[in-house]
This record gives sequence, C-alpha cells and structure tokens, in this order.
Amino acid sequence: MPVEITVPDDVSPGQKLLIDSQPVAVQQAVPVTTAIVVPSAPFLTTCPHCHQNVSTRVTRKAGLVPWLACLGLACVGCCCGCCLVPLFIPDLQDTSHFCTNCDTFIAKRSPLKAAAAASSSSSS
Ligand SMILES: [Zn+2]
Repeated sequence: MPVEITVPDDVSPGQKLLIDSQPVAVQQAVPVTTAIVVPSAPFLTTCPHCHQNVSTRVTRKAGLVPWLACLGLACVGCCCGCCLVPLFIPDLQDTSHFCTNCDTFIAKRSPLKAAAAASSSSSS
C-alpha cells in the first residue's frame, strides 16, 4: 500500500530521512455470544432497518413444542379434543416480532431456545 510522505524544505537531496512508521491499530468487531431472551409479548426496541424506537408487532405460530405436547397428551389418553389445548397456549408457540413502522422482521422466540437460555443463565 503506497504511503504519501511530505518532505520538509530543508532536506537536501541525498540526505537520509528517518520515518517513524507506526502500525495502524485495526479494531475488529468481536461477535457477542450472549444469549438474548426474546419475550413472547411485544417489547420496545430500536428497529435495525428504519432505526425508529418501536413496539414490536407479534405473530404466533404453533411450532414443534405444542405439537409434541399434543402427541404426549394423546398418548396418555386425551384424545377427545383436549390434546389440542397446547396449540393455544401462547408461551408454547413460536413468536415472531416485526417492526410496526416498516414491517421488518426483528426477532424470533422459540420456547426451546428460551428454555435453554433460561437454564444456561440460571446455572452461571
Ligand atoms: Zn422499522
């Protein structure tokens, strides 16, 4: 990489110059690996797309956990409709958060990841 040097006027041709070259410190972004627990309810955040402070819009969808709970309830004899109850429990559903201003996806909460993050934070 070429470096531009300004030579002082009082330097005669042939005279040696001592150039103090200091290495430029390059700061690298260290990825943060702490688990952020996303709540299941709407929360206030700064949108990464439009940079507005917004309260998130939440959509819920039955993921793996409520279906496994349904299967478990069906296996123990709840097969007259009550095995479908876990599909309607909000804390068991996957929750997606969107910006209310620009509708950008912000975060997702899975009950399995939330439980893992809660157990890892409580153990340390
Ligand atoms: Zn936004």
